[in-house]
Amino acid sequence: MLILGLESSCDETAAALVTGDRQVLAHRLAGQEAAHRPYGGVVPEIAARAHVEALEPLIEAALADAGVSLDRVDAIAATAGPGLIGGVMVGLVTGKALAHAVGKPLIAVNHLEGHALSPRLADAELAFPYLLLLVSGGHCQLLLVEGVGRYRRLATTIDDAAGEAFDKTAKLLGLGFPGGPAVERAAALGDPRAVPLPRPLLGSGEPHFSFAGLKSAVARAVGQYRAEDIAASFQQAVVDCLIDRTRRALDRADGATALVVAGGVAANAAVRGALEALAADNGLRFVAPPLWLCTDNAAMIGWAGAERFVAGLSDPLDVPARARWPLDPTAEAVRGAGV
Ligand code: ATP
Ligand code: MG
Ligand code: FE
Repeated sequence: MLILGLESSCDETAAALVTGDRQVLAHRLAGQEAAHRPYGGVVPEIAARAHVEALEPLIEAALADAGVSLDRVDAIAATAGPGLIGGVMVGLVTGKALAHAVGKPLIAVNHLEGHALSPRLADAELAFPYLLLLVSGGHCQLLLVEGVGRYRRLATTIDDAAGEAFDKTAKLLGLGFPGGPAVERAAALGDPRAVPLPRPLLGSGEPHFSFAGLKSAVARAVGQYRAEDIAASFQQAVVDCLIDRTRRALDRADGATALVVAGGVAANAAVRGALEALAADNGLRFVAPPLWLCTDNAAMIGWAGAERFVAGLSDPLDVPARARWPLDPTAEAVRGAGV
């Protein structure tokens, strides 16, 4: 089984060819950092235009890398949301056109499902259910992944996402964009105990997250401490919050076979190391995708497509692009609820 995956929900344009037995035959990616850097963040209109220019050549290149023609694929999987709507539309419409042209099924993939299932692409042994910490630029959630399309949200952030906090901290420290890797590099040169920073919601009953207060404290520390010490202390505070909240959620993750992390912040070595130790303390396996599979890419979309294809799932060609699309539609909104 061969799936073409397409990703365009934020500022990475990507195309990949993935097989049902976990071979990534090709994965191509075009980042847009240079285009957005002058603005210190992703500009939706610039992103959408860049996706239009980049996507077709990337698909051609991925097919050439894999040495296959388009009519060899069994299905085309494209991100249909959530994300910046202009970009999502570019990838989804392209996927629809290709699916129609070659007469193969279209699979509309939730970008978060791509992140959530990516550890199963990396690790054939990873079985359902597993407790997933999904930490990315737009999300910070704990999910019990019970099967393909079956996600029970145990916790979410009441304000900022963890990746957003990294990006804002980088901006406050003048470390540039994208922020996460820059903060991690600076943190390696600093003292994590140098700056007293809060750990929002630490110890609270529900396993929810909050990072807005931490960001404000970072803003107050700027100029009073070395940037490297602020970066190191900030990263330690994020790690402490992620671990405390994940430990709380483990009590509710009945039957979980593993502790799993996914999303861009999962590329952070301090985050991975602390989660690995937490898993060991609890006698659980720890699974984290390789770094390139943590941040946005099309292999995870192709793989989610493969999992859905095997489950007999595909979508009509009029499936809509969605700016918002929760993985667990039954979960209640907690944003700003002061949990
Ligand atoms: P979402 O998946 O929620 O729609 P997104 O696609 O923008 O958001 P990802 O590509 O999964 O998010 O992750 C990007 C985020 O990961 C950014 O906020 C970035 O700063 C963060 N990130 C990347 N590498 C690191 C790192 N080494 N340390 C900390 N954060 C990182
Ligand atoms: Mg990006
Ligand atoms: Fe993402």
